[in-house]
Amino acid sequence: MDNLAPTLTILGTAQDGGVPQAGCGCSNCIAAFENSQRARFPVSLGISDNEGGMHLIEATRALPEQLKIWANACGLDSPVRPDSVLLTHAHLGHIEGIGQFGKEAMGCQNLTLVASDSVISILQKRNLMRPFVRADYNSKEKPNLEQGGVRFDFIPVPHRDDTSDTHAILISGEKKRVLFLPDHDDWEQTLESVGYSNPNDWFQALGATHVLLDATFWNGDELSGRDMTEVPHPTVEDTLARVQNGALGGPEIILIHLNHTNPLNNPDSPQSRVIEVAGHSIGRRGWRIDL
Ligand SMILES: [Zn+2]
Ligand SMILES: [Zn+2]
Ligand SMILES: [Zn+2]
Repeated sequence: MDNLAPTLTILGTAQDGGVPQAGCGCSNCIAAFENSQRARFPVSLGISDNEGGMHLIEATRALPEQLKIWANACGLDSPVRPDSVLLTHAHLGHIEGIGQFGKEAMGCQNLTLVASDSVISILQKRNLMRPFVRADYNSKEKPNLEQGGVRFDFIPVPHRDDTSDTHAILISGEKKRVLFLPDHDDWEQTLESVGYSNPNDWFQALGATHVLLDATFWNGDELSGRDMTEVPHPTVEDTLARVQNGALGGPEIILIHLNHTNPLNNPDSPQSRVIEVAGHSIGRRGWRIDL
């Protein structure tokens, strides 16, 4: 069989709650109710390997739609049935769709699951592990998977470990290397944990060609009445101050995991223009990267 070209498809770009969010009448949510182009599913990626293997990162509540978007991007008629599922952490928006793989819906068996021990133990406690077998990696190693010319490496990152630990995932193909970092608490802690003083050096050391990056909040103003420490993520303003302008080289920065309050949900906002001027982009579902 001829080798297929591995590809990564963006299946969702919102924070865990999606856009629109339940019960919300903010301008972004109203726009998303009225115009499906403005709606965002919770963050998720689909990766096809060169043997036809299909690997899903995160299982959101929009799973049925996302498996069809993935099929469309790969030129397949029927929704994708993944061969493996990879989970960065156990916050609800990232695992909400996991029950769909069970006997009540897809009826999968022996599906490969790549996740940390703490994520797996949460799924076990909720009786959600039945469709899955844990990927076969040495328990002393970080979770990983290598299949069909694509390698997935988990990188621990600090992110309020109230539920489970959290990992970023480095996805390496022959041509491209994509860092998926949807959730982390703040740059100081993350950089300290990976041993670099700024994100540019870290991305370069990883050999990343693309970074799908946590852009939950533009700034602290979005959390009126709620403390930033309650939902910690670095702000996009902080990230922009640390990440070099796209015109100066470095990996392509694609912002994801947008909260419904983020002005980047509005393509006509001044903040969206700032991202364009900085040489970065705001992720959209259906985008593909040839790995
Ligand atoms: Zn999240
Ligand atoms: Zn809203
Ligand atoms: Zn999270």
